[in-house]
Amino acid sequence: MNRRDWMKSAAAAGAAAALPLDSFAALPQQGSGGRAKVETEIKRLNLRHTWTTTMASDTFRDVIMVRYTRDGVTGYGEGAPIIRYKENAVNAQKAINSILDLLESADPWEFDKLMIEFNRRVPGEHAAKAAIDIALMDWIGKKVNVPIYRYLGLDPKDTPVTTFTIGMDTPEVVKQKTLEAAPYPVLKVKVGPNVPDESMIDTIRSVTDKPLRVDANEGWTNKEDVVRKIEWLEKKNVEFMEQPLPAAVPLEDIRWIRERVSMPLIADEACTEAKMIPTLLQVYDGVNVKLDKAGGIMESYRWIKMARAYGKKVMLGCMISSSCTCTAAAHLSPLVDYADLDGPLLISNDPFRGVQYDKAKLILADKPGLGITLA
Ligand code: MG
Repeated sequence: MNRRDWMKSAAAAGAAAALPLDSFAALPQQGSGGRAKVETEIKRLNLRHTWTTTMASDTFRDVIMVRYTRDGVTGYGEGAPIIRYKENAVNAQKAINSILDLLESADPWEFDKLMIEFNRRVPGEHAAKAAIDIALMDWIGKKVNVPIYRYLGLDPKDTPVTTFTIGMDTPEVVKQKTLEAAPYPVLKVKVGPNVPDESMIDTIRSVTDKPLRVDANEGWTNKEDVVRKIEWLEKKNVEFMEQPLPAAVPLEDIRWIRERVSMPLIADEACTEAKMIPTLLQVYDGVNVKLDKAGGIMESYRWIKMARAYGKKVMLGCMISSSCTCTAAAHLSPLVDYADLDGPLLISNDPFRGVQYDKAKLILADKPGLGITLA
């Protein structure tokens, strides 16, 4: 089956889900021994602009897409494996295939038990786990006929605005991207060793005075420099700083910075597991939660609640992802302070339509599950 057919047959399954429940009387129901069909596909997402951060310079990213079909209902999932976490789409697909029998035979209503078993059998591969978790939650939402935000007890009116990210580039391109980002009231700016930090910020400031959030992606190397740079950024209407130093530096270095600047510091690459959160939040002011890092909607929900238990800030971010993952994250966004869910805006071949942006505010459809449709 080619990609187009794969998508079309998925659309047909989605249409079937909208039929009266009586139509399903003859289909296998939960607990009746029915099996799911789990299909995966590596999808290449093309970037609108070459994407340069501290880590890499890319024109595309490969993600793993999942289609989970059972009882005539299809749930969609996506995970974005990145090299920073020693993950890639081929291995993500292998990880899912390695437990295909479990995924197809397990009761999806026991999704928590299923994900615990996935974690027990397969170490790491968080993006693969995210893809499965998102597909299961989409399926559950469709089966109970409620949007995921409603299933989680959240109000879609409480979604925040998302930032729009400006990657590193030449001053001309940065200026152009900043002008194109006119509808977005807050920008996220990537800094690091590839381009002089001051030049990135000054170029943006030459065309706009809107608030900025700055992400060094571990790109700065010593704490004295970080303090000097943050003191400079504090005069440039910057709201907070993400991951200034490498994740592996001693926490005491972050504490040393924390004691010398007033700008909030958010942990991103430093935080890859829930159990790290209590320690990190002794020095960081908040954590950047991403579905691909945590392993899906439900684990991200747990991260958010943990950070909240410590009274700290929560940011919800994304990798280069389609509307599938970003819509899944948007369902959790009423819980967070800051959203950085601009993935669909950065790519040119989004396979889905999902979360919408009303002057950057995240808008979720009142539809079951993720509420996404095929583009
Ligand atoms: Mg970041």
